[in-house]
Order: sequence, then C-alpha cells, then structure tokens
Amino acid sequence: KRKRMGCAVYDVGFDAEAINQGRLSLTGELRQAVEENQFVLYYQPRLDLAGEAITGVEALVRWQHPVRGFVPPDQFIPFAEQTGSIREITQWVTDRAFEQCARWRSAGLAIDVSINLSARDLLGRELPQRFGELLARHGAAPQWFLLEITESAIVDDPVRALETVTRLHEMGFRMSIDDFGTGYSSLSQLKRLPVAELKIDKSFVMDMASDPDDMTIVRSVIDLAHNMGLSVVAEGVETEEVRGLLYKMGCDYLQGYHICKPLPAESLEPWLAGAGV
Ligand code: C2E
Ligand code: CA
Ligand code: CA
Ligand code: CA
Repeated sequence: KRKRMGCAVYDVGFDAEAINQGRLSLTGELRQAVEENQFVLYYQPRLDLAGEAITGVEALVRWQHPVRGFVPPDQFIPFAEQTGSIREITQWVTDRAFEQCARWRSAGLAIDVSINLSARDLLGRELPQRFGELLARHGAAPQWFLLEITESAIVDDPVRALETVTRLHEMGFRMSIDDFGTGYSSLSQLKRLPVAELKIDKSFVMDMASDPDDMTIVRSVIDLAHNMGLSVVAEGVETEEVRGLLYKMGCDYLQGYHICKPLPAESLEPWLAGAGV
C-alpha cells in the first residue's frame, strides 16, 4: 500500500560535494535555530472518550526559518536525527513543554503533555538526568508527561533503550509506543518495556471506515493493548464516522483533525475554554 511506504526522489545531477555542502549548511542552520529560538511548539489536543474531555495534548515542533519560512517537522527531524542535532532539539522541546505544562497546571488546567523522543535520544545516558534538571527548573511533575518512543528506537539498540526507558519510568514518566504497527518490534520486546500506552499510527486510522484491513488492524491493536493492561490512542481521526467506530471499539483516546489540529499555546487556551475543560 503506497500510503504506508516512504518515497524519495534523488536528483542524479547532484554531485557529492553539493550534497555535503547542503548537509553542512542545514546542520549549521539547525544549530542556529536552537540558539536563536526559531522553533515553535504546537499542541494537539487528545480527547478522552470515556470522560468526553480533553485531558492531554501532544507537543509537535515547527521551524520558523528566517528565509525558508515555515518548515514542518518531517522535513528536518529525520535530518536532525542523522546528524545528532536532534538532542538539542529534544532538549529545547522538553524545556518548553515542561514550562508550558507547569503554567497550565498552576492556572488550574489538568492537562498532560506528550513529548516525542527519537531513537537517538534514548542512546545517550544523559537524558534522564537532563529531564530531572528541567523538571526542577520549572517545578513540573513527571506524572504530567507521556514520552512517545517508536518501535524502531527499541529495535536499534534494545539493551540501551530499555535502560533509558526504565530509568525514565522509575522517575515517574509514563511511556507511550508511537506509530504502533509500522515498526518491527516484537511483542516480547514490548512486554519487557514499562509502557503505559500504545498509539495506533494514523496510516491505519485515517481510512479505517472504508478499508476492512485497516479496521481489523485497529480493532486488534485496541484489544492487544487492553489485554496487556495498556491504554490506547488512535491518531489521525479525521471524520465523525471514524470517531464513532473507535468509540464502539473501546478506544481510550482520540487525536486528529476531527477533534482539533495542532495549535500554538495562545490559540489552544481559548479552544480548550470553548471545549469546556
Ligand atoms: P507523529 O508523532 O506521528 O505525530 C502525528 C502527526 O500527524 C503530526 O504531524 C500531526 O500534526 C499529524 N496529524 C494529527 N492529526 C492528524 C489527522 O487527523 N490527519 C493527518 N493526516 N495528520 C494528522 P507533524 O506535526 O507534521 O509531525 C510529523 C512527525 O514529526 C511526528 O509524527 C513526529 O514523528 C515528528 N515530530 C514532531 N515534533 C517532534 C518533536 O518535538 N520531536 C521529535 N523527535 N519528533 C517530532
Ligand atoms: Ca507522536
Ligand atoms: Ca512519530
Ligand atoms: Ca504517527
């Protein structure tokens, strides 16, 4: 199925030097972006189906480039992962997200915040300690946060990833498996990880109303999660029909354009007030 496959087009006219220069300049630009605060965090609400309330948001980074303009994460996160600058980006995102969540909490908004981690973040030993420092700096509690990791992050280096994930869990963070179903992790690996939640990838959710295979996969993942004592989130909910199907299947949380698109904090607050949280 094409929608699940990545696609890349290579220009044979590019020579190696030009590519290397491009890489060098993007690496420099990403570094500068961190220093000059060119990133913006958006937040996408997630609906708690049982309580019909918004109980959490996912933090999603955007790059406001001075020349290129608005750059979506798919266009720089993979590159940042290759070059290692993802660690600075994660640090920036986490710093902002902890600060924002602490602010919401002190304003009486009981909102949890989900943060995306990359495979590379889990390989460094310093992450849990840095997160501890950031919590202290902002007066935030680890229980307010879900850390989203992908299956590939675990497959790359299972021993190291398990070590980091276990430490974060012991600190009080909840862990979530993102893009579930698109990677290659085995159930035995999953069983050993202290995770609280599975997140069904939007490639299965978006067309589930018209695609019986997708419907079967989504239903199976919901059952699997519940049988393992985990909660389950569906992302990419775009229609009322899909929302209804997921409700009937007992899915715990929904995220998608049908609920709300990702918004900057200042637009999210009025939206939340309107949603009656
Ligand atoms: P993801 O973690 O799977 O995030 C969900 C993506 O789906 C987001 O795209 C979100 O805007 C989009 N989305 C939400 N609802 C719908 C919907 O109903 N329909 C459709 N078609 N899409 C929907 P976004 O913000 O462009 O982010 C893309 C990816 O970039 C993320 O996928 C995540 O892998 C990565 N990313 C974003 N922010 C961060 C970050 O702070 N750190 C890291 N490491 N990765 C990030
Ligand atoms: Ca995510
Ligand atoms: Ca992801
Ligand atoms: Ca996804």
